[in-house]
Amino acid sequence: MKVLEKNDLINKIDQYLKTLFPIQRSITGKGNRKTLQILKEVVPLEIKEYASGTEVFDWIIPDEWNISDAWIKDAYGNKIIDYKESNLHVVSYSERVHKTITFAKLKKRLHYHNELENAIPYVTSYYKRDWGFAVTKKQYEILSKINGPLEICIESKFNKNGSLSIGELVIPGTSDKEILLSTYICHPSLANDNLSGPVMTAFLAKQLMLLPKPKHSFRIIWVPETIGAISYLAMNQNIMNHIKTGLVITTVGGPGKFGYKQSHNKNHSINLAIENVFIEEGIEFIKYPFDMHGSDERQYSTQSFRFNMASITKDKYYEYPYYHTSLDNLDFISSENVYQSLILHLKVLMEIDAEPVYENQFPSCEVMLSKHNLYPHKGPHSPVGDTSDLDLILWLLWLCDGEMGLYQIKKRLGVPDSDLDRVINQLLDEKLILKK
Ligand code: ZN
Repeated sequence: MKVLEKNDLINKIDQYLKTLFPIQRSITGKGNRKTLQILKEVVPLEIKEYASGTEVFDWIIPDEWNISDAWIKDAYGNKIIDYKESNLHVVSYSERVHKTITFAKLKKRLHYHNELENAIPYVTSYYKRDWGFAVTKKQYEILSKINGPLEICIESKFNKNGSLSIGELVIPGTSDKEILLSTYICHPSLANDNLSGPVMTAFLAKQLMLLPKPKHSFRIIWVPETIGAISYLAMNQNIMNHIKTGLVITTVGGPGKFGYKQSHNKNHSINLAIENVFIEEGIEFIKYPFDMHGSDERQYSTQSFRFNMASITKDKYYEYPYYHTSLDNLDFISSENVYQSLILHLKVLMEIDAEPVYENQFPSCEVMLSKHNLYPHKGPHSPVGDTSDLDLILWLLWLCDGEMGLYQIKKRLGVPDSDLDRVINQLLDEKLILKK
């Protein structure tokens, strides 16, 4: 297996984290396009634009939002809050505003974190036109002590002729089945959630491209969370029935414990493969059961799609104190952690890609087992004759539908591997099942 050299990879991950961190990202806008352009240096992803105003299921792609500057000044012209110092200072999707205002009137537009005094919280208002600033608790206190008027300015623009940008890369496999890898690019200067995701995904894709042709195609997408995933699903409905499973790649660079969020079917092979890899690597991990909150698995597992999408995390979103604050910065994460996560993702994908899948060649009614010499001579309930394999034969024929992978079948049947392998070989010899 051709693998990228470890130290070189860590250095490159570090370089791209640093380059991409300051860029203003949101659900649309120039910063997203620029981010994708930069990631294109790593892998040949295609940038696609979906026009603002397009209906995507129950949603509409919003107008494109861009911002050039924002500040709050005191009466002497001193900038108390400066967007150029942190793009988190402005509520994402804020409307343009320029006026003089008292603190008493401004304060309902100011957001701060109650427990972390030096943290700027990450605040958005995508679908309700609004404006606001996010500040540290200390800055809030400074502003509150200013008696005179404050001059505020947000230089933002909405463009109804704009678009939502996504990145897409398909690495073709030998079958028509696909594995979906989805990460999000909508967070501005926030490192673990979620710059670690798109950067790791780019280098993971680069590594996947170096491997021998996989069985499954890898469909890899960089989208703004929620609206991007919804738009992608809506625009690509024709290929969605090829998706077998996948991963939502998020929060992969923190200093804390590894964990994984299960897909909706906890016994699905994707979850079993992740656990296998953690155990093989001797890594202790936290198991987060599927739940209705989270990232884009929310879209991918809705009724029309029902993909089993899991996430392997290192300091999972929601779970660490710096989550969605300016303290989730490049000092919080490390490129070594991102690299470690990349290797785990790669191993899981290799396991899933190589997982055997069998298909019963006689799916209509039971197979006549006696014809194939697989039926106990005296009947299943006879006290004479060996019936031990009969149950396994029947279960395997029932489960091998050409979709369910062997890990899942093993978990379901809970019998020793040697017994299962023996019976699978018998069924293969009789051509009752076929390996796909
Ligand atoms: Zn987030």
